[in-house]
Amino acid sequence: MSGIAVLGSTGSVGASTLDVVARHRDRYHVHTLAARSDHRRLLAQCIAHRPRLAILEDTQAAQELGAALRASGLPTRVESGRTALVDAVRDAEVEVVMAAIVGAAGLPSTIAAASAGKRVLLANKESLVVGGALLVSAARKAGATLIPIDSEHNAIFQCMPTGTSAGVPAAGVRRILLTASGGPFLRMPRAEMARVTPDEACAHPRWRMGRKISVDSATLMNKGLELIEACVLFGMEPRQVEVVVHPQSIVHSMVEYVDGSVLAQLGNPDMRTPIAHALGWPDRIASGVESLDLVAAARLDFEAPDVERFPALRLARSVSEAGGTSPAVLNAANEIAVAAFLAGRLGFAGIPAIIEAVLDRHQCRQVDDLQDVLAADRWARQEAESMMTRAAVAGT
Ligand code: MG
Repeated sequence: MSGIAVLGSTGSVGASTLDVVARHRDRYHVHTLAARSDHRRLLAQCIAHRPRLAILEDTQAAQELGAALRASGLPTRVESGRTALVDAVRDAEVEVVMAAIVGAAGLPSTIAAASAGKRVLLANKESLVVGGALLVSAARKAGATLIPIDSEHNAIFQCMPTGTSAGVPAAGVRRILLTASGGPFLRMPRAEMARVTPDEACAHPRWRMGRKISVDSATLMNKGLELIEACVLFGMEPRQVEVVVHPQSIVHSMVEYVDGSVLAQLGNPDMRTPIAHALGWPDRIASGVESLDLVAAARLDFEAPDVERFPALRLARSVSEAGGTSPAVLNAANEIAVAAFLAGRLGFAGIPAIIEAVLDRHQCRQVDDLQDVLAADRWARQEAESMMTRAAVAGT
Protein backbone atom coordinates (compact mmCIF):
# COMPACT_ATOMS: atom_id res chain seq x y z
CA MET A 1 0.00 0.00 0.00
CA SER A 2 1.40 3.37 -1.02
CA GLY A 3 0.44 6.45 0.97
CA ILE A 4 -0.50 9.40 -1.25
CA ALA A 5 -0.59 13.11 -0.56
CA VAL A 6 -2.78 15.02 -3.02
CA LEU A 7 -1.84 18.70 -2.95
CA GLY A 8 -4.53 20.68 -4.74
CA SER A 9 -7.16 17.98 -4.22
CA THR A 10 -10.21 20.17 -4.92
CA GLY A 11 -8.99 21.21 -8.39
CA SER A 12 -9.66 19.25 -11.57
CA VAL A 13 -6.39 17.24 -11.48
CA GLY A 14 -6.90 16.53 -7.75
CA ALA A 15 -10.43 15.25 -8.37
CA SER A 16 -9.26 13.06 -11.28
CA THR A 17 -6.47 11.67 -9.08
CA LEU A 18 -8.95 10.67 -6.38
CA ASP A 19 -11.14 9.09 -9.06
CA VAL A 20 -8.22 6.88 -10.21
CA VAL A 21 -7.07 6.11 -6.65
CA ALA A 22 -10.60 5.01 -5.69
CA ARG A 23 -10.36 2.30 -8.39
CA HIS A 24 -7.26 0.85 -6.70
CA ARG A 25 -7.91 0.82 -2.96
CA ASP A 26 -5.74 -2.32 -2.71
CA ARG A 27 -2.69 -0.37 -3.97
CA TYR A 28 -3.05 3.14 -2.52
CA HIS A 29 -4.36 4.87 0.55
CA VAL A 30 -4.96 8.62 0.71
CA HIS A 31 -2.75 10.02 3.48
CA THR A 32 -3.10 13.79 2.95
CA LEU A 33 -5.53 16.02 1.09
CA ALA A 34 -4.66 19.70 0.70
CA ALA A 35 -6.45 22.66 -0.86
CA ARG A 36 -6.50 26.44 -0.68
CA SER A 37 -9.93 27.35 0.75
CA ASP A 38 -12.76 25.14 -0.54
CA HIS A 39 -13.61 23.50 2.80
CA ARG A 40 -16.96 22.09 1.62
CA ARG A 41 -15.42 20.15 -1.25
CA LEU A 42 -12.52 19.05 0.94
CA LEU A 43 -14.98 17.78 3.58
CA ALA A 44 -16.74 15.67 0.94
CA GLN A 45 -13.35 14.28 -0.16
CA CYS A 46 -12.41 13.52 3.46
CA ILE A 47 -15.65 11.60 3.94
CA ALA A 48 -15.04 9.61 0.74
CA HIS A 49 -11.30 8.93 1.20
CA ARG A 50 -10.69 9.14 4.97
CA PRO A 51 -7.22 10.73 4.90
CA ARG A 52 -5.02 11.03 8.03
CA LEU A 53 -4.52 14.74 7.39
CA ALA A 54 -6.39 17.57 5.66
CA ILE A 55 -4.71 20.92 5.00
CA LEU A 56 -6.27 24.22 3.99
CA GLU A 57 -4.08 27.23 3.33
CA ASP A 58 -6.86 29.55 4.51
CA THR A 59 -7.01 29.52 8.35
CA GLN A 60 -10.70 30.42 8.55
CA ALA A 61 -11.60 27.67 6.10
CA ALA A 62 -9.47 25.21 8.10
CA GLN A 63 -11.50 26.01 11.24
CA GLU A 64 -14.76 25.39 9.34
CA LEU A 65 -13.43 22.07 8.08
CA GLY A 66 -12.22 21.04 11.56
CA ALA A 67 -15.66 21.69 13.05
CA ALA A 68 -17.43 19.79 10.25
CA LEU A 69 -15.07 16.82 10.57
CA ARG A 70 -15.59 16.63 14.33
CA ALA A 71 -19.34 16.77 13.78
CA SER A 72 -19.17 13.88 11.33
CA GLY A 73 -16.95 11.83 13.68
CA LEU A 74 -14.01 11.47 11.29
CA PRO A 75 -10.51 11.21 12.85
CA THR A 76 -8.85 13.32 10.09
CA ARG A 77 -6.47 15.93 11.56
CA VAL A 78 -6.72 19.48 10.15
CA GLU A 79 -3.84 21.92 9.64
CA SER A 80 -3.41 25.20 7.80
CA GLY A 81 -0.66 27.23 6.18
CA ARG A 82 2.11 26.45 3.71
CA THR A 83 4.60 24.98 6.20
CA ALA A 84 1.96 22.32 6.88
CA LEU A 85 2.28 21.28 3.22
CA VAL A 86 6.05 20.97 3.44
CA ASP A 87 5.79 18.90 6.64
CA ALA A 88 3.11 16.68 5.13
CA VAL A 89 5.11 15.67 2.05
CA ARG A 90 8.07 14.73 4.26
CA ASP A 91 5.96 12.33 6.33
CA ALA A 92 7.46 8.82 6.25
CA GLU A 93 4.05 7.30 5.44
CA VAL A 94 3.77 9.37 2.24
CA GLU A 95 5.43 7.69 -0.73
CA VAL A 96 3.67 9.46 -3.60
CA VAL A 97 2.99 13.19 -3.84
CA MET A 98 0.58 14.58 -6.40
CA ALA A 99 1.77 18.19 -6.81
CA ALA A 100 -1.31 19.85 -8.29
CA ILE A 101 -1.39 23.25 -6.63
CA VAL A 102 -1.82 25.98 -9.25
CA GLY A 103 0.85 28.64 -9.66
CA ALA A 104 4.18 29.42 -8.05
CA ALA A 105 2.53 28.76 -4.65
CA GLY A 106 3.14 25.06 -5.26
CA LEU A 107 6.92 25.36 -5.58
CA PRO A 108 8.12 24.96 -1.95
CA SER A 109 6.08 21.81 -1.28
CA THR A 110 7.07 20.29 -4.63
CA ILE A 111 10.78 20.86 -3.95
CA ALA A 112 10.33 19.47 -0.42
CA ALA A 113 8.77 16.30 -1.86
CA ALA A 114 11.64 15.88 -4.33
CA SER A 115 14.25 16.53 -1.59
CA ALA A 116 12.59 13.86 0.56
CA GLY A 117 13.05 11.31 -2.24
CA LYS A 118 9.36 10.75 -2.95
CA ARG A 119 7.71 9.81 -6.20
CA VAL A 120 6.52 13.23 -7.35
CA LEU A 121 3.69 13.43 -9.84
CA LEU A 122 4.16 16.86 -11.34
CA ALA A 123 0.92 18.57 -12.27
CA ASN A 124 2.14 21.95 -11.10
CA LYS A 125 3.80 23.19 -14.27
CA GLU A 126 4.75 26.50 -12.68
CA SER A 127 7.14 24.60 -10.35
CA LEU A 128 9.10 23.40 -13.36
CA VAL A 129 8.98 26.74 -15.10
CA VAL A 130 9.95 28.81 -12.07
CA GLY A 131 12.33 26.50 -10.25
CA GLY A 132 12.90 23.68 -12.72
CA ALA A 133 16.67 23.44 -12.31
CA LEU A 134 16.34 23.41 -8.50
CA LEU A 135 13.63 20.78 -8.62
CA VAL A 136 15.52 18.50 -10.98
CA SER A 137 18.75 18.73 -8.96
CA ALA A 138 16.88 18.14 -5.66
CA ALA A 139 15.29 15.04 -7.17
CA ARG A 140 18.60 13.74 -8.46
CA LYS A 141 20.33 14.24 -5.09
CA ALA A 142 17.59 12.51 -3.12
CA GLY A 143 16.87 9.79 -5.69
CA ALA A 144 13.30 11.02 -6.16
CA THR A 145 11.32 10.02 -9.26
CA LEU A 146 9.68 12.87 -11.16
CA ILE A 147 6.81 11.89 -13.44
CA PRO A 148 5.04 14.65 -15.36
CA ILE A 149 1.24 14.71 -15.34
CA ASP A 150 0.79 17.47 -17.88
CA SER A 151 -0.66 15.41 -20.75
CA GLU A 152 2.03 16.51 -23.23
CA HIS A 153 4.98 15.84 -20.93
CA ASN A 154 3.52 12.60 -19.76
CA ALA A 155 3.23 11.62 -23.44
CA ILE A 156 6.85 12.62 -24.04
CA PHE A 157 7.94 10.67 -20.93
CA GLN A 158 6.12 7.62 -22.32
CA CYS A 159 7.86 8.01 -25.72
CA MET A 160 11.34 8.50 -24.22
CA PRO A 161 13.72 5.52 -23.83
CA THR A 162 13.30 3.53 -20.59
CA GLY A 163 15.62 4.74 -17.84
CA THR A 164 15.60 8.38 -18.96
CA SER A 165 16.36 10.59 -15.96
CA ALA A 166 15.06 14.10 -15.35
CA GLY A 167 17.12 16.90 -16.87
CA VAL A 168 19.43 14.59 -18.85
CA PRO A 169 19.07 14.43 -22.65
CA ALA A 170 18.27 10.87 -23.72
CA ALA A 171 20.66 9.25 -26.20
CA GLY A 172 19.33 9.05 -29.74
CA VAL A 173 16.62 11.67 -29.31
CA ARG A 174 16.68 14.43 -31.94
CA ARG A 175 13.72 16.58 -30.90
CA ILE A 176 10.36 16.83 -29.23
CA LEU A 177 7.15 17.66 -31.08
CA LEU A 178 4.95 19.38 -28.51
CA THR A 179 1.31 19.36 -29.59
CA ALA A 180 -1.11 22.21 -28.87
CA SER A 181 -4.89 22.21 -29.32
CA GLY A 182 -4.67 25.87 -30.33
CA GLY A 183 -7.25 26.90 -27.72
CA PRO A 184 -10.65 28.53 -28.32
CA PHE A 185 -9.26 31.39 -30.49
CA LEU A 186 -7.24 29.34 -32.98
CA ARG A 187 -8.97 30.91 -36.02
CA MET A 188 -9.99 34.28 -34.53
CA PRO A 189 -8.67 37.43 -36.27
CA ARG A 190 -6.34 39.55 -34.18
CA ALA A 191 -8.72 42.54 -33.97
CA GLU A 192 -11.47 40.37 -32.45
CA MET A 193 -9.08 38.78 -29.96
CA ALA A 194 -8.67 42.13 -28.24
CA ARG A 195 -12.36 42.06 -27.22
CA VAL A 196 -12.78 38.53 -25.85
CA THR A 197 -14.29 38.07 -22.38
CA PRO A 198 -13.06 35.81 -19.54
CA ASP A 199 -15.96 33.40 -20.12
CA GLU A 200 -15.11 33.08 -23.83
CA ALA A 201 -11.46 32.47 -22.93
CA CYS A 202 -12.44 29.78 -20.44
CA ALA A 203 -14.60 27.81 -22.90
CA HIS A 204 -11.91 25.39 -24.10
CA PRO A 205 -12.93 23.19 -27.04
CA ARG A 206 -11.25 19.97 -25.81
CA TRP A 207 -10.29 20.02 -22.14
CA ARG A 208 -12.30 21.05 -19.10
CA MET A 209 -9.89 22.83 -16.76
CA GLY A 210 -9.52 25.52 -14.11
CA ARG A 211 -9.88 29.18 -15.16
CA LYS A 212 -6.20 30.15 -14.93
CA ILE A 213 -5.00 27.34 -17.18
CA SER A 214 -7.95 27.92 -19.53
CA VAL A 215 -6.84 31.51 -20.10
CA ASP A 216 -3.26 30.26 -20.55
CA SER A 217 -4.56 27.88 -23.23
CA ALA A 218 -6.37 30.72 -24.97
CA THR A 219 -3.23 32.93 -25.11
CA LEU A 220 -1.06 29.85 -25.87
CA MET A 221 1.02 30.82 -22.81
CA ASN A 222 0.15 27.36 -21.56
CA LYS A 223 2.12 25.97 -24.51
CA GLY A 224 4.90 28.47 -23.86
CA LEU A 225 5.16 27.30 -20.24
CA GLU A 226 5.11 23.72 -21.50
CA LEU A 227 7.99 24.45 -23.87
CA ILE A 228 10.06 25.69 -20.92
CA GLU A 229 8.90 22.69 -18.89
CA ALA A 230 9.94 20.24 -21.65
CA CYS A 231 13.45 21.73 -21.89
CA VAL A 232 13.93 21.43 -18.12
CA LEU A 233 12.48 17.95 -17.71
CA PHE A 234 14.08 16.30 -20.72
CA GLY A 235 17.35 18.24 -20.90
CA MET A 236 16.54 19.66 -24.35
CA GLU A 237 17.60 22.93 -25.97
CA PRO A 238 14.65 25.22 -26.86
CA ARG A 239 15.43 24.77 -30.58
CA GLN A 240 14.89 21.01 -30.14
CA VAL A 241 11.26 21.55 -29.09
CA GLU A 242 8.81 22.31 -31.89
CA VAL A 243 5.23 23.37 -31.15
CA VAL A 244 2.70 21.78 -33.50
CA VAL A 245 -0.99 22.76 -33.45
CA HIS A 246 -3.17 19.65 -33.42
CA PRO A 247 -6.80 20.70 -32.86
CA GLN A 248 -8.16 17.18 -32.13
CA SER A 249 -5.97 16.77 -29.00
CA ILE A 250 -5.60 13.04 -29.60
CA VAL A 251 -1.82 12.92 -30.16
CA HIS A 252 -0.55 14.27 -26.84
CA SER A 253 3.02 14.83 -28.08
CA MET A 254 5.83 13.05 -29.93
CA VAL A 255 9.52 12.25 -29.69
CA GLU A 256 11.70 12.08 -32.79
CA TYR A 257 14.82 9.92 -32.81
CA VAL A 258 18.02 10.37 -34.84
CA ASP A 259 17.03 7.49 -37.13
CA GLY A 260 13.90 9.42 -38.21
CA SER A 261 11.46 7.40 -36.08
CA VAL A 262 8.73 9.46 -34.44
CA LEU A 263 6.98 7.92 -31.43
CA ALA A 264 3.64 9.38 -30.37
CA GLN A 265 1.30 8.78 -27.44
CA LEU A 266 -2.41 8.93 -28.30
CA GLY A 267 -5.53 8.81 -26.18
CA ASN A 268 -8.81 10.51 -25.34
CA PRO A 269 -8.29 13.93 -23.77
CA ASP A 270 -8.84 12.81 -20.16
CA MET A 271 -6.35 13.60 -17.39
CA ARG A 272 -7.00 10.23 -15.75
CA THR A 273 -4.74 8.60 -18.38
CA PRO A 274 -1.52 10.46 -17.44
CA ILE A 275 -2.48 10.26 -13.75
CA ALA A 276 -2.94 6.48 -13.88
CA HIS A 277 0.27 6.12 -15.88
CA ALA A 278 2.27 8.07 -13.30
CA LEU A 279 0.64 6.34 -10.33
CA GLY A 280 1.20 2.86 -11.69
CA TRP A 281 4.55 3.37 -13.43
CA PRO A 282 6.32 1.17 -14.44
CA ASP A 283 3.13 -0.95 -14.24
CA ARG A 284 -0.04 -0.04 -16.10
CA ILE A 285 -3.25 0.37 -14.12
CA ALA A 286 -6.86 1.04 -15.17
CA SER A 287 -7.94 4.69 -15.25
CA GLY A 288 -11.61 4.49 -16.18
CA VAL A 289 -10.89 6.22 -19.51
CA GLU A 290 -12.79 4.91 -22.52
CA SER A 291 -11.04 3.34 -25.51
CA LEU A 292 -9.91 5.76 -28.19
CA ASP A 293 -12.15 5.51 -31.26
CA LEU A 294 -9.82 6.50 -34.10
CA VAL A 295 -12.40 5.64 -36.74
CA ALA A 296 -14.86 8.08 -35.15
CA ALA A 297 -12.11 10.71 -34.87
CA ALA A 298 -11.42 10.05 -38.59
CA ARG A 299 -8.67 12.64 -38.99
CA LEU A 300 -5.66 14.08 -37.23
CA ASP A 301 -4.60 17.57 -38.38
CA PHE A 302 -1.31 19.32 -37.73
CA GLU A 303 -0.27 22.92 -38.47
CA ALA A 304 2.31 25.52 -37.44
CA PRO A 305 1.28 27.97 -34.69
CA ASP A 306 0.77 31.66 -35.54
CA VAL A 307 3.38 33.45 -33.41
CA GLU A 308 2.08 36.86 -34.51
CA ARG A 309 -1.38 36.34 -33.03
CA PHE A 310 0.01 34.40 -30.07
CA PRO A 311 3.08 36.35 -28.87
CA ALA A 312 3.20 34.24 -25.68
CA LEU A 313 4.97 31.51 -27.66
CA ARG A 314 7.73 33.87 -28.78
CA LEU A 315 8.15 35.24 -25.24
CA ALA A 316 8.39 31.77 -23.72
CA ARG A 317 10.95 30.62 -26.27
CA SER A 318 13.20 33.61 -25.62
CA VAL A 319 12.86 33.14 -21.86
CA SER A 320 13.71 29.46 -22.19
CA GLU A 321 16.88 30.43 -24.07
CA ALA A 322 17.82 33.07 -21.47
CA GLY A 323 17.27 30.75 -18.48
CA GLY A 324 18.19 31.98 -14.97
CA THR A 325 15.49 34.10 -13.33
CA SER A 326 13.70 34.89 -16.64
CA PRO A 327 11.21 31.99 -16.58
CA ALA A 328 10.18 32.92 -13.01
CA VAL A 329 9.56 36.50 -14.15
CA LEU A 330 7.54 35.40 -17.18
CA ASN A 331 5.44 33.10 -15.01
CA ALA A 332 4.80 35.67 -12.27
CA ALA A 333 3.88 38.44 -14.73
CA ASN A 334 1.55 35.98 -16.46
CA GLU A 335 -0.15 34.99 -13.19
CA ILE A 336 -0.80 38.65 -12.36
CA ALA A 337 -1.95 39.55 -15.87
CA VAL A 338 -4.30 36.55 -16.08
CA ALA A 339 -5.81 37.33 -12.67
CA ALA A 340 -6.38 40.92 -13.82
CA PHE A 341 -7.98 39.71 -17.05
CA LEU A 342 -10.28 37.34 -15.14
CA ALA A 343 -11.22 40.21 -12.82
CA GLY A 344 -12.09 42.45 -15.78
CA ARG A 345 -9.17 44.83 -15.14
CA LEU A 346 -7.15 43.98 -18.27
CA GLY A 347 -8.01 43.19 -21.88
CA PHE A 348 -7.03 39.86 -23.45
CA ALA A 349 -4.33 41.43 -25.64
CA GLY A 350 -2.96 43.14 -22.54
CA ILE A 351 -1.82 39.81 -21.09
CA PRO A 352 1.21 39.23 -23.37
CA ALA A 353 1.81 42.99 -23.54
CA ILE A 354 2.24 43.23 -19.74
CA ILE A 355 4.47 40.15 -19.67
CA GLU A 356 6.70 41.51 -22.43
CA ALA A 357 6.98 44.90 -20.72
CA VAL A 358 7.96 43.27 -17.41
CA LEU A 359 10.53 41.04 -19.16
CA ASP A 360 12.00 44.10 -20.90
CA ARG A 361 12.68 45.68 -17.50
CA HIS A 362 14.12 42.50 -15.97
CA GLN A 363 17.83 41.92 -15.47
CA CYS A 364 18.26 38.16 -15.78
CA ARG A 365 20.32 36.54 -13.01
CA GLN A 366 21.65 33.08 -12.31
CA VAL A 367 19.58 30.89 -9.95
CA ASP A 368 21.42 29.31 -7.02
CA ASP A 369 18.60 28.64 -4.58
CA LEU A 370 14.88 28.98 -3.96
CA GLN A 371 15.33 32.52 -2.58
CA ASP A 372 16.64 33.71 -5.99
CA VAL A 373 13.53 32.58 -7.84
CA LEU A 374 11.16 33.74 -5.12
CA ALA A 375 12.78 37.21 -5.21
CA ALA A 376 12.43 37.36 -9.01
CA ASP A 377 8.84 36.17 -8.67
CA ARG A 378 8.03 38.93 -6.12
CA TRP A 379 9.71 41.61 -8.23
CA ALA A 380 7.79 40.60 -11.35
CA ARG A 381 4.45 40.57 -9.53
CA GLN A 382 4.99 44.08 -8.19
CA GLU A 383 6.22 45.31 -11.55
CA ALA A 384 3.20 43.84 -13.38
CA GLU A 385 0.78 45.31 -10.82
CA SER A 386 2.28 48.79 -10.93
CA MET A 387 2.35 48.72 -14.73
CA MET A 388 -1.35 47.93 -14.84
CA THR A 389 -2.11 50.65 -12.30
CA ARG A 390 -0.15 53.20 -14.35
CA ALA A 391 -1.94 52.09 -17.54
CA ALA A 392 -5.33 52.36 -15.81
CA VAL A 393 -4.50 55.86 -14.54
CA ALA A 394 -3.26 56.90 -17.99
CA GLY A 395 -6.40 55.49 -19.58
CA THR A 396 -8.85 57.44 -17.41
MG1 MG B 1 -0.80 20.38 -21.13
